[in-house]
Amino acid sequence: MSKQRAKLVVGNWKMHGRLAENAVLLQAVAQGAGELPAQVRVGVCVPSPYLAQSQSLLEGSRVAWGVQDVSAFTHGAYTGEVAAPMAVDFGATLAIVGHSERRAYHRESAELVAVKTQRVLEAGLTPIVCVGETLEEREAGSTEQVVGMQLDEVLAKLSEQEAARIVVAYEPVWAIGTGKSASSEQAQAVHAFLRARLAAKGAAVADVPLLYGGSVKPENAEELFRQPDIDGGLIGGASLKAQDFLVICKAATTSVAG
Ligand code: PEP
Repeated sequence: MSKQRAKLVVGNWKMHGRLAENAVLLQAVAQGAGELPAQVRVGVCVPSPYLAQSQSLLEGSRVAWGVQDVSAFTHGAYTGEVAAPMAVDFGATLAIVGHSERRAYHRESAELVAVKTQRVLEAGLTPIVCVGETLEEREAGSTEQVVGMQLDEVLAKLSEQEAARIVVAYEPVWAIGTGKSASSEQAQAVHAFLRARLAAKGAAVADVPLLYGGSVKPENAEELFRQPDIDGGLIGGASLKAQDFLVICKAATTSVAG
């Protein structure tokens, strides 16, 4: 029998949003999240310039906020970078690391993602470590090898206690922003693999939240969230529409209850 874990649904706004539209979105999400049961946690990862706005509109609400990347350094001559402690100054508690868009467009290696995870943990934030295979890798039958290597690189740099504080998001690259989600069976199979890998690191790590990301929508969220090893979602496009995002959060409620 599978274990009943709390659910976590996090929006990844990517490089979207402006002050006026953010205010409407954040207020709606804060209000809607207030009606969710305590076993469903909600967060949004916003572009860094909007951290202050997120803090002012979300403080005291049920919605956590955070960033989509951090520097591998804590401070210094790294023009354009944002350090994890800077996000903490604005009340952030979440930081995505290793998103496939950063791995692809910014050539972030598994090693760099692991170092960033360390910086995030040192700052006291929760890292959401993204792993996922490309379509070519899936078709070549190397999904487990790819996501296993991406996760192992991170786990190798962490103690068991540190590893117990991470969140992992399985985001197949071919499903991100394409409208083509993994089926619940495909996602569950990879999540079960990742769960076993986490458990091998230590008992405290076995239950870290495992989120699925990749074209989660109001129509498919419930089915995905019902899977025994899917503990919620990392939501891109649909997190920009309050109504869609809240329906997805509610879908997590159903799967916790049922
Ligand atoms: C993402 O970018 O993390 C993501 C899951 O995007 P989308 O939901 O738009 O596929």
